[in-house]
Amino acid sequence: KMVRTRQGFCAFYDQAMRDATRELQQIESRLDGAFLNREFIPYYQPKFGPDGTTVTGAEALVRWNCDGTLLPPGRFIPLCEQNGWISRLDDYMLEAVVRQQTAWRKQGRAIVPVSVNLSRARLYQKDYAIRCREMFRQAGLPPWAVQFEVTESAAVENVENMRDVIRQLHQAGFRVLVDDFGTGYSSMASLKDLSFDILKLDKSFVDEIGNSRGDKIIRFTIELAKSLGMSVTAEGVEQEQQFLFLKERGCDDFQGYYFAKPLAAQAFEQLLRPEKEGEQ
Ligand code: C2E
Ligand code: MG
Ligand code: MG
Ligand code: MG
Repeated sequence: KMVRTRQGFCAFYDQAMRDATRELQQIESRLDGAFLNREFIPYYQPKFGPDGTTVTGAEALVRWNCDGTLLPPGRFIPLCEQNGWISRLDDYMLEAVVRQQTAWRKQGRAIVPVSVNLSRARLYQKDYAIRCREMFRQAGLPPWAVQFEVTESAAVENVENMRDVIRQLHQAGFRVLVDDFGTGYSSMASLKDLSFDILKLDKSFVDEIGNSRGDKIIRFTIELAKSLGMSVTAEGVEQEQQFLFLKERGCDDFQGYYFAKPLAAQAFEQLLRPEKEGEQ
């Protein structure tokens, strides 16, 4: 039914707001229990090499199994950020991925590096890299098995701090990716001041493939990254034509619905080869 009067619209809007607020409150009241009951589940979105079939890595993306419904991070991460639970979520995910990688290795699968997303909050913990190294040592997992994704905007918020974080993670043997590259206002600063290992070209650039300005910016960004010694991963690749363009321009790894959606662990592990004798 169309709402015509201003009063009518307000009543309608009010109800929608109240519903949204109630939903937020419900989610918030269940967050603590979700951690305790281990309702957060890593999904694994594979990354592919230029041949389009070799799995070269994956990104761990959190899902919340809330009464059998899988909620995407957009539904609860903002809340976690507000009430200080985001570091707890990042720690939970890192631990879950370390555990999973260790299990896959024990089953004799050839594991690939899996990246986890790091929130702003996590970047300010002084001994983060040291704690990670200790965790890996205890699990008997080599540090190349997990990589860290940091968004460009989080990284440039405090460049001094980020420089230390990257140095410490590097010393501990971890690689660091700059995520959502090109969406912030300080893309150049993030490259000038910080020594990331891998640049993740944001989906918004991949979406521009086919228009001439977009094509030039991508070509330039890939060249720039390469000349700084980084490798380039494209995210949000949805079409063959985007894949072919990026591959032609020297992009190293590819992630997106064209290849695979984020997969549950049991589906992702089907993509891992059996480990060969003598391989690490
Ligand atoms: P992100 O790190 O940039 O991850 C990529 C997002 O794009 C994921 O959304 C993924 O499912 C989606 N995506 C991948 N390929 C395609 C494609 O071809 N087309 C389209 N339309 N989308 C694609 P998702 O899983 O909803 O995650 C959203 C964001 O939530 C992530 O963006 C990341 O910033 C954050 N996030 C996810 N897991 C965690 C976590 O454990 N900790 C933290 N701090 N943040 C997380
Ligand atoms: Mg990411
Ligand atoms: Mg990203
Ligand atoms: Mg993104």
